[in-house]
Amino acid sequence: MTQIQENVSLQEYNTFHVDVKARFFVDIKEEQDILDLISTDVFTQYPHLILGGGANILFTKDYEGIVIKVSLMGKESIGEYNDALYVKVGAGEDRHETMMRSLEKGYAGGENLVLIPGQVGSAPVGNIWAYGKEAKDIIHQVEGIDLQTWETKVLSNEDCHFAYRDSIFKHELKGRFLITHVVFVFQKITDEYIVDIHYADIQKAIADQGKDPLKITPSELANIIIAIREQKLPDRTKVGTAWSFFKNPIVTKEQYEKLLQKYPEMKWNEIQHPASSIQHSTLVKLSAWQLIDLIGYKWKSKGPVGTYVNHALVLINEWWASGQDVMNFAQEIQKKVLEQFDVILEPEVIVI
Ligand SMILES: Cc1cc2nc3c(=O)[nH]c(=O)nc-3n(C[C@H](O)[C@H](O)[C@H](O)COP(=O)(O)OP(=O)(O)OC[C@H]3O[C@@H](n4cnc5c(N)ncnc54)[C@H](O)[C@@H]3O)c2cc1C
Repeated sequence: MTQIQENVSLQEYNTFHVDVKARFFVDIKEEQDILDLISTDVFTQYPHLILGGGANILFTKDYEGIVIKVSLMGKESIGEYNDALYVKVGAGEDRHETMMRSLEKGYAGGENLVLIPGQVGSAPVGNIWAYGKEAKDIIHQVEGIDLQTWETKVLSNEDCHFAYRDSIFKHELKGRFLITHVVFVFQKITDEYIVDIHYADIQKAIADQGKDPLKITPSELANIIIAIREQKLPDRTKVGTAWSFFKNPIVTKEQYEKLLQKYPEMKWNEIQHPASSIQHSTLVKLSAWQLIDLIGYKWKSKGPVGTYVNHALVLINEWWASGQDVMNFAQEIQKKVLEQFDVILEPEVIVI
């Protein structure tokens, strides 16, 4: 049985690097550890938080419960049919490495999702998204343990109810389903495989490198995206961050048109996810970073907290800020955006 530790610092377990403590902390390395844990008194008496890489969480105070750090490792090919390779990966594995390894082995699908910090187990939770691809595009099934019923369950891609940055794990199964493995489906790299290069940043990088867009391989695309992200993202060895702090807000077309009269440069995006319940014709998505730019908060700092020079949506912690300092700064941005545009910015990051 893995040991339940007490009063453990979470500083190395969250990418904001805030120094809070967990009342109890357990590191899950085997499935049996989960079953052992849920039969303890501590588990029944205290709330719990499942933790992956801590890249999407802001701790504003000590956690007065059990932090369950998921460190289930292992990768195994479980079948190949018609050029599709099914790979079962432990929830504690690094996601970026998993995507890169499949490319090295000659299988594609994860090339647009490289360099997104975090573990495999959280990919289905937030249906991670980047450069036009979502985790749902390469997830075949999700395996885990229901912490309430103690049952081991397998959910198909459809069962996960994936939508924009959303899934069943943020609703019916929130906090209660510990993902132990994800089965990815990767495609064998053949001449017929089509890479998704429609994003403007990618197209520009291809043009700058003088490459033929029709001949870009999945590995080349991954390298292009790595270079773009390295240039855009803060250096995580120097500052704390969880990248996009707020979701892009959704407003009515009417409200957007009103805003447009005052701010002709106001950008909007179509709502791209048919899986969401949003009515496409009447609603549009604004760019949160642009709203933050327009309130004058690009590359603005308040003590040790600020917005990143290359991206206003990225809040950074220059090491010594507390989670509450970060949250106060975020709330200041929310207030100013509401006052200026009558738009509510909701955090993308989970605030605890
Ligand atoms: C620099 C940077 C860039 C980023 N860029 C992107 C991006 O381009 N696209 C994007 O989508 N996100 C991005 N993110 C956000 C973040 O990487 C993702 O949200 C990622 O999925 C978080 O992974 P994690 O393992 O750290 O999860 P955590 O932050 O530890 O947890 C996230 C949620 O998943 C739950 N969870 C974690 N593991 C499990 C499990 N095994 N079983 C059940 N529940 C679990 C947690 O309880 C929590 O609710 C970025 C973050 C950073 C720091």
